Amino acid sequence: MRIMTTIASRWQAVNARIAAAARSAGRDPASVTLVAVSKTFPPAAIAEAQRAGQQAFGENYVQECLDKIRALPELGILGHIQWHFLGPIQSNKARLVAENIDWAHGVDRLKIAERLSAARPDSLPALQICIQVNVSGEDSKSGVAPETAFVLAGQISALPRLQLRGLMAIPEPNPDSVQRRSRFRMLREIRDEISRKGIPMDTLSMGMSDDLEDAIAEGATVVRVGRAIFGERGPARV
Ligand SMILES: *Cc1c(COP(=O)(O)O)cnc(C)c1O
Repeated sequence: MRIMTTIASRWQAVNARIAAAARSAGRDPASVTLVAVSKTFPPAAIAEAQRAGQQAFGENYVQECLDKIRALPELGILGHIQWHFLGPIQSNKARLVAENIDWAHGVDRLKIAERLSAARPDSLPALQICIQVNVSGEDSKSGVAPETAFVLAGQISALPRLQLRGLMAIPEPNPDSVQRRSRFRMLREIRDEISRKGIPMDTLSMGMSDDLEDAIAEGATVVRVGRAIFGERGPARV
């Protein structure tokens, strides 16, 4: 009989990678939060990771996320799970995000932020927000252009029921570690500049299964890791 499940042992390995990367950057491993990206995986996989000790989970599709939130109590998972919404938010889904989720990482339009703010229930703490910045420069990607991030940060930080925490990026995969790091460094520099101009932000949400070391070296405070914990993904469920 296996002592540890596959998910639990992979989860431990990811935590060891995070700790090693933090130490070699001269950082405290506790300064990096792991968000386990469970999209396409069943609630049982979330339950397994939660039993191993994982507390924060990330999803990309609203309905899939809500289905899992509802399914977890039946699996004996009753403690609080922190939910991070990572995908782009459509206006007609903003209310569901505001009512059910703790963090939104993919915010790149004022209109969506306004809807989240208006729909966030008073009974919940402020919704934690990261602005997604397009650091790779392709037209197709979501995220604001780097030069627009400051204006949007000012607008979002003026909205009630939201707390602007930082910036998020999904750089294009790149085989060259120097170039990977330069994208992450760009996000950090944008964050630092906006903070210097008077809008303090403590969060850099960057780094995934294949590049979390580079992201941590450049200051990531949140890494979003799916495949390295849960295995390869099949097609999206939604
Ligand atoms: C899927 C996804 C991840 C996780 O990617 P992996 O390569 O599985 O680690 C992280 N962030 C976002 C925004 C994602 O969509």
